[in-house]
Amino acid sequence: MCGVIPCDIDDVTGRKVKFNIEYIVDKNIGGKEELSNLRTLCSTCNQGAKNITAEKPTGLWLLSQVRRAGHDEQLAVLKWLREKFKD
Ligand SMILES: [Zn+2]
Repeated sequence: MCGVIPCDIDDVTGRKVKFNIEYIVDKNIGGKEELSNLRTLCSTCNQGAKNITAEKPTGLWLLSQVRRAGHDEQLAVLKWLREKFKD
């Protein structure tokens, strides 16, 4: 993401860059555990990208999360949606 290479000094930490392997599409939203769904990020980018992917969650996944949520959280979602789509 930021273009650093091994042996570079991380601008944020002042230390030698470390790399992490992470999922492109997170397993929580249906990403597969396979090589094509993995990427390498420096630790600074990885911290900023944690659980944030370019992939949008599916409607089915969103509904499953709302169904699992508690009553108050479901009401907060309903309130937010009503506000967002009021005309
Ligand atoms: Zn980076």
